[in-house]
Amino acid sequence: MEPSIRAPRGIKDVLPPDASRFEAVLKEAESVLSLGGFQKVLLPLFESTALFARSIGGATDIVEKEMYTFLDKGGDQYSLRPEGTASLLRAAIEHRLLDPSRIIRLAYSGPMFRHERPQAGRLRQFTQIGAEVLGPLTPADDVDLISLIHRMAIDFSIPSWTLILNSLGCPLCRPAYRETLVAYLVKNAASLCETCHRRTAQNPLRVLDCKVPSCQEALEQAPRITEHLCTRSRNHFEDVKMGLDGLGIPYVLSHRLVRGLDYYTETTFEFVSDALGAQSTWAAGGRYDGLTAELGGPDLPGIGFAAGIERLWLLREKAGTLPDPEKHPVRIMVFPMETNGRVAALDLVRKLRNAGVPASGHFSGGKIKSAFRQAERDGALFLAILGEDELRSGTVQVKNLETGEQCSWPLNDVKKIADMIRESGG
Ligand code: ATP
Ligand code: MG
Repeated sequence: MEPSIRAPRGIKDVLPPDASRFEAVLKEAESVLSLGGFQKVLLPLFESTALFARSIGGATDIVEKEMYTFLDKGGDQYSLRPEGTASLLRAAIEHRLLDPSRIIRLAYSGPMFRHERPQAGRLRQFTQIGAEVLGPLTPADDVDLISLIHRMAIDFSIPSWTLILNSLGCPLCRPAYRETLVAYLVKNAASLCETCHRRTAQNPLRVLDCKVPSCQEALEQAPRITEHLCTRSRNHFEDVKMGLDGLGIPYVLSHRLVRGLDYYTETTFEFVSDALGAQSTWAAGGRYDGLTAELGGPDLPGIGFAAGIERLWLLREKAGTLPDPEKHPVRIMVFPMETNGRVAALDLVRKLRNAGVPASGHFSGGKIKSAFRQAERDGALFLAILGEDELRSGTVQVKNLETGEQCSWPLNDVKKIADMIRESGG
């Protein structure tokens, strides 16, 4: 039978046994952030649309066409979060966590929503983990954050990864560069696509990462921001590169890495991998020194990144470093052969669980064959059988379904059974 209602396009159900493996991939990435001293914040899944428009930027793809925006019953306009930085900063400002004299490190994770064209590694609901460092930062803090993502690349054996690095300058040097760039784009308009023309007017830096091959060619000769940085931004960028060199973290420079969000300043970076096909970026971020002030908080430097868990999954799958699926999510299934054994079976299941053993029951009676089939379906390693004889003698037959070994146990000592189950491998 065809279901009449399906999941929305670009939304993926994650089923067993992959769901718990997906959570493990998320947890393992989060534990790298814990090692870096980041503390987790739990953020709402939707916010006022104005928050995203103001932080991400009105002329970005995300805000222009990718947000799931709705009016609630009170007539207020909200959007499902397309990313985490805006919410995290909103919360940090609202709860007065920011302090110009000290650095704070916060992390988040969870689903994000963007109405994009779904393809491999690009979903409409996807999962990110992200981290933000806020306070009196130095270029060393940029290096330190990048070094944590580098650690993920190593720990998870990410295949053929590259760190791409650029600087977007600061409010002092970017306006002049922008003008130089616009002049170039206008002069070369004939070689650029329609989208580039629109962006030249609205968001000229975004023209640089146009994916159309003929545009890419025309843009190779475009003025480069790193050649138009003010002294402070140039020194900042040099310090970051020196730090990465010092840690032996390889990177390549790209003057065309501008990122899709307007709030970035100074250092911007992406970790990409050839193994991902067209959606090559698995982690990305950068400095956003003006953003906290823009959102009504103290004027503090900030840097952050986000990584996509679905893409990390794909990469770890390729590398063969995904966590193994749980072999026996249920350790033991209890089967009463007759209806009058049901209560004893329920009681045994409960006691096994109380002793910390994942247990299920197959209460429908019938042939032992059906119990074996159900046990296999549950992923149980043991089958406990309660027949007439066992009920009479207060015992239970416990069969190891892998080895075929079978043994009788007294029902009044469930702890012993639990110990035996825990000690057996499988
Ligand atoms: P992309 O280059 O894929 O468009 P982006 O620049 O929009 O990415 P960010 O907003 O910086 O990405 O998000 C950080 C990370 O989140 C990305 O590197 C990617 O791993 C993941 N991500 C972003 N959008 C999606 C999506 N639609 N589906 C799955 N993962 C995504
Ligand atoms: Mg995108």
